[in-house]
Amino acid sequence: MAIDVNDPAVAPTATTDPTSRPAVAAAAEPGAARLRIEGLTKTYVEKDGPVLTGIDLAVAEGELVSLLGPSGCGKSTLLRIVAGFIDPSGGSVAIDGRDVTTVPTHRRNVGIVHQSHALWPHLTVAENVAFGLEMRRVKRDERARRASEMLELVGLGGYERRVPGELSGGQQQRVSLARALVIEPDVLLLDEPLSSLDANLRVYLRDEIRRIQRDLGVTTIFVTHDREEAMAVSDRIVVLDGGRIAQTGSAVDLYRTPVSHFVMSFTGATVEFSGTVADDRGRRVVHSDLGLPCPAPSGLAVGDDVTLCIRPDDFVLGGSAGDEAAVVRGRLVDAAFLGTSAEIRVAIDAADGPTDVLVRLPARQHERLPDVGAPIELTVERDHVHVFATPTAA
Ligand code: ADP
Ligand code: MG
Repeated sequence: MAIDVNDPAVAPTATTDPTSRPAVAAAAEPGAARLRIEGLTKTYVEKDGPVLTGIDLAVAEGELVSLLGPSGCGKSTLLRIVAGFIDPSGGSVAIDGRDVTTVPTHRRNVGIVHQSHALWPHLTVAENVAFGLEMRRVKRDERARRASEMLELVGLGGYERRVPGELSGGQQQRVSLARALVIEPDVLLLDEPLSSLDANLRVYLRDEIRRIQRDLGVTTIFVTHDREEAMAVSDRIVVLDGGRIAQTGSAVDLYRTPVSHFVMSFTGATVEFSGTVADDRGRRVVHSDLGLPCPAPSGLAVGDDVTLCIRPDDFVLGGSAGDEAAVVRGRLVDAAFLGTSAEIRVAIDAADGPTDVLVRLPARQHERLPDVGAPIELTVERDHVHVFATPTAA
């Protein structure tokens, strides 16, 4: 059985091989991934159908990759397979070029932080942090020194002799982070580490995690269902949809060039128009309320329903239609000045009835808005109109 050094259910006296510091991996080829996941699948015996399908992912040394997706899409399962808590049904996991697919957790050099801090209540903060070192037979003096160093790094210098019950939730999560980092993990695994904290603290701590991760250059997988959190901390984001990778890319890639309606709507707000694929002298084009001829996405037939999606910040105030842009005409319903931007609600007449769209403009444009109730025109460039097959209701 795999031992999770961060799991309080595992007593410090558990039957763990103390000589478990993994053998140094064979020197990796230059440019090789620190972590490589190939063809990974997982089916739980108790559950119909696979939870993960065909997961391929390489994480470079020092990179922070987020797994982003709705609850139940398989994020924790993937993380737990990397940690070695559960076995995959197929595929492989390699760390530094060494296949660890069947290697138990305590022989993989991974640090783990869970959603809830899971500290030992009866041990001091320093003892909690040093526990992984004790398992690795590090001498007492060095354990204390390294625990103090890590506590300093996470902003808890001087808290060594406290017990977890004396700390706030955010402080306890910092201790968990120090505990995961003190073993100098090859890979740091964070499973929604901030989700039990309140909103302000979440933002503060996510920036702290990113700073520490960069300082140490530790290769990290960060699981979250919060897109803003993923966008704020990640080098790259893997969007998971029903156990499959929907898209991998930077925050900008996902926001500006999403490959599907799922990715587009999960990575930010959208303004949507419906349309259909039509035939235009042998070419398949999209007809919609936008009145802008768009090529139809590949794989769709004449008559298929499509959804045209636009980011709320891709609208420009004023009408200047051309071959490459569409003008949306409506009435201004509401305008909110938000300091860094202005959010306006516009009622437009679409073929299937009037709809309101929420648009975000640069803050300075607020001064140029018409009165509430007055007509308004907005322009959107064709390149900013994303056309996808309309998702079928699940
Ligand atoms: P996430 O972390 O993205 O919310 P999980 O990886 O926890 O998703 O779960 C993915 C799916 O697998 C869910 O449908 C969940 O109910 C199921 N699942 C998770 N763990 C088990 C298990 N031990 N046995 C059976 N089904 C499981
Ligand atoms: Mg989870």
